[in-house]
Parts: sequence; structure tokens; C-alpha cells
Amino acid sequence: MTPLKKLATYYVHLLSRLGVVKFSISLAAAIIMVALAIQMSVTFALTGKVSAVDLIRSVFFGLIITPWAVFFMSVVVEQIEDSRQRLSKVIRKLEKMRSRDLQLTNKLKANISQLNKEIDEREKAEAARRQAIVNLEQEVKQRQLAQQELEEHSALLRSFIDSSPDLVYYRNEQGQFSGCNLALERLVGRTEKKLIGLTPYDVYPEDIADKIVETDHQVFDNDEPLTYEQWLEYPDGRKAFFELRKVPFYGRNGNRLGLLGFGRDITERMRHQANIEKANRDKTQFISTLSHELRTPLNGVVGLSQILLDTALNDAQRKHVNTILLSATTLGNIFNDIIDLDKLDRRRFAVSMEPMDFKALVNDIETLTEMQLQNKGLSFKFEQIGPIPSSIVGDPTRLRQVLWNLTQNAVKFTEKGAVGLMIKAQPLAEQQVQLDISITDTGPGIPQNQLEQIFAMYYQVEGRKSATGSGIGLSVSRQLVRAMGGDIKVTSKEGEGSCFTVSLKVQLDSIPDEAEQIDHPPLDILLVEDVELNVTIAKALLEKLGHHVAVAMNGKQALASFDPDSFDLILLDIQLPDMSGFDIAERLQQDYAKEQLPPMVALTANVVNSKQEFAKAGMVDVIHKPINRNAVVHCLNNVFAIGPHDEPSETQLNPSQALSRSSQPVLDLELIEQFCSSIGCQVLTDSVTLFRQVMPDYMQVLESNLFAKDQQGIASEAHKIKGAAGSIGLARIQRLANKIQSPELPAWWDNVDDWIHQLSHDYPEDLKLLDKAIEDFSSAETTESKDSLNLPLPLDQD
Ligand code: ADP
Repeated sequence: MTPLKKLATYYVHLLSRLGVVKFSISLAAAIIMVALAIQMSVTFALTGKVSAVDLIRSVFFGLIITPWAVFFMSVVVEQIEDSRQRLSKVIRKLEKMRSRDLQLTNKLKANISQLNKEIDEREKAEAARRQAIVNLEQEVKQRQLAQQELEEHSALLRSFIDSSPDLVYYRNEQGQFSGCNLALERLVGRTEKKLIGLTPYDVYPEDIADKIVETDHQVFDNDEPLTYEQWLEYPDGRKAFFELRKVPFYGRNGNRLGLLGFGRDITERMRHQANIEKANRDKTQFISTLSHELRTPLNGVVGLSQILLDTALNDAQRKHVNTILLSATTLGNIFNDIIDLDKLDRRRFAVSMEPMDFKALVNDIETLTEMQLQNKGLSFKFEQIGPIPSSIVGDPTRLRQVLWNLTQNAVKFTEKGAVGLMIKAQPLAEQQVQLDISITDTGPGIPQNQLEQIFAMYYQVEGRKSATGSGIGLSVSRQLVRAMGGDIKVTSKEGEGSCFTVSLKVQLDSIPDEAEQIDHPPLDILLVEDVELNVTIAKALLEKLGHHVAVAMNGKQALASFDPDSFDLILLDIQLPDMSGFDIAERLQQDYAKEQLPPMVALTANVVNSKQEFAKAGMVDVIHKPINRNAVVHCLNNVFAIGPHDEPSETQLNPSQALSRSSQPVLDLELIEQFCSSIGCQVLTDSVTLFRQVMPDYMQVLESNLFAKDQQGIASEAHKIKGAAGSIGLARIQRLANKIQSPELPAWWDNVDDWIHQLSHDYPEDLKLLDKAIEDFSSAETTESKDSLNLPLPLDQD
């Protein structure tokens, strides 16, 4: 600050401190003093002396100047003061502002530092975030890799599961499908997507679903895996046999989520097994065929021994012939067992129900047993309770076979003591009798724990070296008796003996003894038979009955020697070296008018063919081999009692009614002709092509159903084949399919496999014939002459 400014400030300060009056006085005094000093100094300097007037002038000057100075000064001061105050105000304001600024600055500073802090933090966070992102990216990468690996694994697993031929599926606790592999998709004919959420009832037929759900419940109830076998069905109807395994499966925390299922198609295995069984059966069949063949010469031995016994013999000869008869009978019964064994195996077994002389049968058994016992030095006891019925309805061959087996065993196993035969006959209802036939012996007996086992096939009590055997007699016997509606029971005590009892309910036969010959005039009979032994027996038997017999040893001879006026009856062996009895019958029916032909009777050892089959071939009756007197007499009575031209009863066979084999055509030519002429042969050809295409599938389904023993499946598939075959004129296939689709037919189960086999064998052949027929019809159509049609159709074999 300049000294002037300082002086002014001081002046203003003084003025404001002293107030105007005091300040004015002080200023006046100061001015006077300054004026005095200046006056005196100047005057004295100038004059060398100071006068009073000078003093007084200075005083007055001071006094005059002072107010003006005061005024002036006051105005200045006021101005200054004003500006000072304004300045102060401004300064205060400024100070205030400054302090506010300061505050603001502080705040700002604080904010800035806060901001800096935040920035720092943010930067740190950003860095951390960046790090986190890097980490995250790494993790994502890792996860992607893991995911990829997982996907690869699951794709691998999936392709494992999908390429598996086994069924793989899972179901939840509610029994709904949650997933499956390709094999199951194929089985149910739906994709996995469509399958999810469905229950077995939505997917399988009800009977199959029932079993599936039942086994699911078993798995859930027991909380344990389960393995079982079941037939399942493909959408096209093909059946396959599956071994199914169901396993409960659990989540991480141990809660059960549902079940996993695996299914293996074991149809082939089963088929293989069945083939093995079949091979086994074939072996049995071979043995039985062999036995059958052996039985023919054996029957000669039995027949001739019987004829010999009717002649005059000395004791030794009689004994020898008896032994021959006994041995041959034993052998014959063993063969019978073997043949029956095969039939039982092939379910072809059927007992015949015919009037039989029960008394004679008992006598035979009695005589033959006694003969054997005599040879062993043992005694025979016969006992009877109640009157033995003379004639009953039953199967004489089988009953004889059973009793023979039992008495043979009794004789075979007994070394000392006796064998007994006891017949107990108790009348039941009218015409019905309860027969209990017991065979007792004093042999070694049978251990208690093996009493049932001895009825098993090939079973023999251990340690019985003395007697030989095959172990099939009792098994076959029990099955035979059971087939007749009865049973065989055994009681035994080791070391004391055994008692076998056959219990049967039988019907008494009220028909008079048919074995008595009705008086016929001597007949001229043509016997067509190739086996010399059979010829000898049959000829001897017929001649003994007073008839004349001419013999033809084969088909050619038979046809050559036949003259309708020379013969009253033809006995036709079915199996001849050059042609079958069926062929001869057919040729004769073709060559001669119906009225010219004498009755034809079949001679056969085959018990499988039914009478109806012979009737179809034009034969009026059948005589089963071995030929015996009763059978021949019965047949002659039968045939000649009604007379060859009489109307026979419903059950008897009528050659005029019997369908000729050629009336069962392979093709329905009429339908084919109509088809060709109305719609055109091309359409028929197209239909045949379609049939050719679908038939292998039909056959596959049919065979799988046969294998699965699904009667309904067989019938429904055969129904399709029948319809398809019928619509294109395959008459034989249609008939065959009709039989296959009719389970109500007698012995359907016994025959259906043969029919199906025949169907698969015949249809390609028949299709060839159909092609030929269509070809002929279309060419006949163009020449407008259907008469030119000439088809070499084979005869129906069904
Ligand atoms: P096979 O006599 O040919 O051996 P079977 O089936 O007739 O066959 O008999 C089976 C087994 O039962 C015989 O091997 C024998 O061990 C026992 N058996 C049968 N009958 C008697 C019997 N009367 N006394 C003692 N054991 C018997």
C-alpha cells in the first residue's frame, strides 16, 4: 500500500473512530498547527521574525480551511467508506463465496478422491472382471470340451444301444416309456419320440401288455431284477420269442426312477432247440418206421403160428410153435410200444373206440402168461371179482399192449413164487363198467421213492441186472391208459413183490358179436398185396371163410387182371412197389363206370390216415394190418350187409358220395376264366405278381405264429392267405388255408404243422400252374376258343 493510501486509510480510520466533531477539532488544530508552523517558518525565514499577526492569520486560516477540509475529507471518506463498505461487503461475499468455494472445493476434493477411489475400485473390478471373463472363457471352453466329450460319449453310447440287436428301453414309475433303442422302435413300429409317454397298453396287444405290466409290477414290488420269456409281435404280425430282463434303476439320491428293460430275440435259439427235438423225434420216427416194417414179417410169424396151432401137432411141435408165437407176440408188442412212442411224441396218437372181445383178450393174456410162467417154473393165479364183460368198446390193440407189458414185467422180474391176474368189474351207470385189472408178482419189488419214476421214459430201477429191458413199456402203457381215460397205479414192497392196477371206465357193447360171419355167398376177391407173408395169411383166412381169392402183387398186375364181371370185392394194399392203392382206385374209377366197379377196401398198416381219406379215394372200408379174422369178417359184414349199391348210413363210407380226388382241383379254372374274360388276364397277372410278393411275408408270419403256438395268430394269417389265394383262383391253397384257419377241426393241432408245411411247399408249384393257366386263357381269348385249354394239373393231395 502506498503511504498516501495508508494515510488516507488512517485518516478514514481516525474519522470513523473520533467522530466528525472530534475529528474536525483535531483536524482544525492540526491544520492550525501546520499553518502556524509553515507561517512562522516562512515568515521567520523571510523576515527573521515572527509577528503575532502571522500567528493569528494562521489560526484563522486553519479555522477557515478546516470545515472545507472536513467536508471534503468527509465526502471522500464517505465515498471511501462507502466503497470500503461495498468492498467489505464484496469481500465478505467473496469470502463467503470463497469459503463456499472452499467447502465446494473440499467437497469436490472429497468427491474426487471418492471418485478416484471408485475409479480405482472400478479399475480393480474391471481387471477382476476381465480376469473372471478370461476364467469364464476358459471354463466355457472346458465345458464345451466336456460337453463335446459328453456328446461324443453319449453318441457312442447311443450308437452302441442302437446298433444292438437286443431291445433296450426304460419306463418310469408310472409305467410309461421314457426312451428306447432302434430295435424296440422296430418292434413297436414307432419312433422313440412318439413312444415316450405311452404305456404298454398303447403299444402292444392287450394279452401281451397284460404280461408286461404284470412283470413290471413284480420288479417294482420286489425291487429286484426279473428275467422271463415272452412272445412279442412286430407290426406286420410276425412273432418273436424274447428273453426279457427288467432291472429297477435309481437316481443319484437313491430314489427309484423306473425300470430298464433288455430283450433278446431267442426265436432262433428256440428254433434250433426245436430242430434238435425234431431231429430226435425223426430218430424215434425212423426207429418206429423200422419197427413198423419189421412188424409185417412178424405178423406173418404170428399168423402162421396160429394157423399151425390149428393143425395136428405132437406135443413137442406144439410147444415149439407156442414158443414161436409167444416170442413173436412179445416182439410185436415191443414194436407196438415203439410205434406208439413216436405217435405220442408227434401228438398223432389216437385211441380207437370199437367193439372188442374183452373176454377173449383176457384169455389170450392168461394163456400166454401161463405159458411163460411154466417155462420159468412159476405158478399163475387168476382171480375175478364180478362178471367179466364179454364185449366192451375200446382199443383192443392198445389194451392188449398195456396188459402184455405189465404181465411181461411181472414174469420178467419174478424168479420164484407166482404171478397173479385179477379182474374186478363193477357196474356203474347203465352200460358202463369200472374195470380194475391188477397184475401182481412176488418179484424184487420197487423202492418206494421210485414208484413214480418207473413211469418215466427210459427209467429203470438201478441194480436190476438180471432182467433186460428198454424202460419204455411202463411210460407208453401209462400214456395209453390215460388216453383211454383211465390210469395205472402201482403198490410195491421191496423183497415181496409189486401190484400194478389198470383202472378204466368202459362202455359195454350192446351190438351183437359182429365177428360172426353173416351168410354171404362165396365171394370172388381180388387181393392186391405185395408182401408174400401177408398174401399167405390173408388168402388162408379168406379161403377159410369160403371165398375165392385171386392175387395181384403190384399195381400193374392188378389193373391188368381186373375184370369187373369176375370180382365181387377188391382188397387194395395202399403201399405197393409201383403205385399206391389210391392210384389203383383212381385208375379203376376212371376206366369203369361206377355201377361196374365192385366195392374197394383198403388194406393198410397206417393208422394215421382217417377213414374219410380212404373214402375220398373211393374206398368203402379199411382193414388195418395185421389182418385178423375178426377184422375181415367185420368188414365183409359191413360192406355186404348194406350191399354195394344200397344207400349207406351217414357214418358209413359211400363210394358214390366220396369225393373223387380230381374234384378237389388245384386251380379254380372257372374263376380264372371269368376273371380273364370280364376284367382281363393282365389284371389277374398283376394280382398274381402281388400274391407272389406278399406270400413270403405271410408265410413268415404264419410260421412264426405256428412256432409261437398262437392259434389265433395262425388262424388270422391263414385267413389272409385264404382270401388272397381264393381271389386269384388258387383253389388248393385256398382249401389248405381254410383248414389252417379252422382250429375247430378235429385234431387241428396235430395236423396244422403239416398243413403249413404243405402250404409252403405247394404254393410255388400252384403259382406256376396258375401262370400257365392264365397264359392259356389269354391265348384262348385271342383265338376265342377256350376249349383248347389243356392243363396238366396234378391231383390234390390234401
Ligand atoms: P423195462 O421193463 O423194459 O425196463 P418198463 O418201463 O416196463 O421197462 O419198466 C421200467 C422199470 O420199472 C423196469 O426196468 C424195472 O426196474 C421196474 N419194474 C417194472 N415192473 C416191475 C416189476 N413187476 N417188478 C419190479 N420192478 C419192475
